[in-house]
Amino acid sequence: MGSLNVAGMGFFLGPCTARPCRSFVAMSVALPVMEAFYTVQGEGRYTGQAAYFVRLGGCDVGCTWCDVKESWDVHAHPLRTVEDIVRDAQHHPGRLAVITGGEPLMHQLGPLTAAFIQAGFRTNIETSGSHPLSGEWHHVCLSPKKFKQPLPQAYERADELKVIVYNKHDLKWAEEQAAQVTAGCTLYLQPEWSKREEMMPLIVEHVKAHPRWTISLQTHKYLNIP
Ligand code: SF4
Repeated sequence: MGSLNVAGMGFFLGPCTARPCRSFVAMSVALPVMEAFYTVQGEGRYTGQAAYFVRLGGCDVGCTWCDVKESWDVHAHPLRTVEDIVRDAQHHPGRLAVITGGEPLMHQLGPLTAAFIQAGFRTNIETSGSHPLSGEWHHVCLSPKKFKQPLPQAYERADELKVIVYNKHDLKWAEEQAAQVTAGCTLYLQPEWSKREEMMPLIVEHVKAHPRWTISLQTHKYLNIP
């Protein structure tokens, strides 16, 4: 029996030869990788920390202001095995892996996080929450989008809620989002980059009036690092 590519999941399954096991076992898993690089996390709770970023291809959310539209087409990016991805990450001293996209949860991420954790990494994800959660995560950053709203489980699991503020109404929408996360979830308001000068005064006033929120800036863009 040959290997089986489970459509859209990046899984290559083959017959089990070990005991105990189910009838199939993951032999090799490949994911579409738009880019992977070692840098410093620029935003959110882990700002300033060295991290290995893996940007997976594929997104069906469709944010009009998206700054990585080239990630949307899942077929536009080379498939790389989990082993290959983690091997490259291990060449750097940092042990924080950030999985982003695109929308990374369009893929089954269990094998990737298992490999990273086995290699001694902490695993963070940045997601819109619009697809079912897979994988083992030390930290979940939920960045909800109006264009395709999160599933209920995303609010329950979020360690960090990061709302991108593109217009004034997004502040009202941010409160609606915050009402759905747990009490321990950290709340961030982050100006959309092209609207930052217009939105920052509104965000500052909102944070002053609603101190549960914290401002997140895309510091990597100010510092001109990837
Ligand atoms: S969810 Fe992220 S990658 Fe997808 S369209 Fe929105 S900003 Fe772009």
